[in-house]
Amino acid sequence: MELNNKTIKRIKKDFPIFKNNKRLVYLDNAATSQKPKQVINTLKNFYEKDYANIHRGIYRLSEKATELYMKSKEIVAEFIGSDPEEIIYTKNTTESLNLLSYSLPFIISESKGEIKSKSKRKSKKNEIVLTELEHHSNLIPWQQLAKRNNMKIKFIEIKPENYELDFDDALKKITNKTAIVAINHVSNSFGLINPIKEIIKFAKSKKAITIVDAAQSMPHMKVNVKDLNCDFLAFSGHKMLGPTGIGVLYGKKELLKKLPPFLFGGGMINDVELKKSSWAEIPFKFEAGTPDISSAIGLGRAIRYIQSIGIENIESWEKKLTAYALNKLKEIPGIKVYNSSKNISGILSFNFEKIPPHDVASLLDFYGIAIRAGYHCNIPLMKKLNIPGTCRISFYFYNSFEDIDYLVKILKKISLEITKKLE
Ligand SMILES: *Cc1c(COP(=O)(O)O)cnc(C)c1O
Repeated sequence: MELNNKTIKRIKKDFPIFKNNKRLVYLDNAATSQKPKQVINTLKNFYEKDYANIHRGIYRLSEKATELYMKSKEIVAEFIGSDPEEIIYTKNTTESLNLLSYSLPFIISESKGEIKSKSKRKSKKNEIVLTELEHHSNLIPWQQLAKRNNMKIKFIEIKPENYELDFDDALKKITNKTAIVAINHVSNSFGLINPIKEIIKFAKSKKAITIVDAAQSMPHMKVNVKDLNCDFLAFSGHKMLGPTGIGVLYGKKELLKKLPPFLFGGGMINDVELKKSSWAEIPFKFEAGTPDISSAIGLGRAIRYIQSIGIENIESWEKKLTAYALNKLKEIPGIKVYNSSKNISGILSFNFEKIPPHDVASLLDFYGIAIRAGYHCNIPLMKKLNIPGTCRISFYFYNSFEDIDYLVKILKKISLEITKKLE
């Protein structure tokens, strides 16, 4: 479906939140997205008509619930270009990355932990490479792993003039000592699209395991795991129209087979004796206990909704919104926008010279505009830039040019009033 002012009006009607909050201009989609009635109804229908636990039951309802759950994996797999057995359901991106931070050391020390350098001395593969743009979810689990296993973390730096990742620095930081490279696809602070395909390719040449945090890209652009050739990739359902409580970890089949489970209990076993057990096939060995069945089914429906519009259409509409907003924001006196000329996704960060970001956000809230102010789970980045956080607006396809016009009108008003008061 082509997106334009007219179709957006129709699409907005699918989202009950806008009917129930008449004045709401929702510009915090990088934190979470709103839900269409199709997804909400899927949850309602499942609980009212088909609800039962999966896998274990022989009765019809349980078979139906299992079928719906498995179907949702097929939908996710098709969406990202993988096999359904490569899809592990977790709670969110954070849990997906934590799973890896616990389980990966086992296969790293097994297969690649020690490699011989030219000088025949053993050089350990014991470094983790991240970027300065990582969300705390893709930083703290690795800090903990480094602490547990005595590993070292290196950070690919950003260029201070335009906040873009310094690709030359990536080539320096990733070496034969690199065991893991974990990077975000799109920065949740500044919206930059990082050159992950190139970084993955280089990391592979150094035999590192590659992990993509796709929390901010999967909802907004075509992401294909085969094309990226990453080993693992994580994202959250709630940022792409799905319910909360469901996240995805994709992993390459041959790696998942080697990777030990992170959580243990029912549902993930093959056989159990009193003193030892063996694990189920992938992906089930990673899904201990009763999963969030309804949210998984809801995520499948959310992806179907996205597909009915077309991810390419979503991407190009959001690009138009961002370009329009960027021009309009620049007109406002006293504003600084943290952007680069290229690689702009649906996220824009800005600050006023004289007004702290939290004040801007609470003033906007008075006018029904929801934006986020603060560190955006990126405290080290804000410290580096020496700023008290930013104001961040982030679009989804249900946003319109009208939303931006209204935001800019109110921002101008706020800027004028505060400047007057300070004079
Ligand atoms: C939101 C986000 C996360 C964390 O997602 P959760 O759903 O809170 O686990 C991680 N990385 C990026 C880039 C994000 O935007």
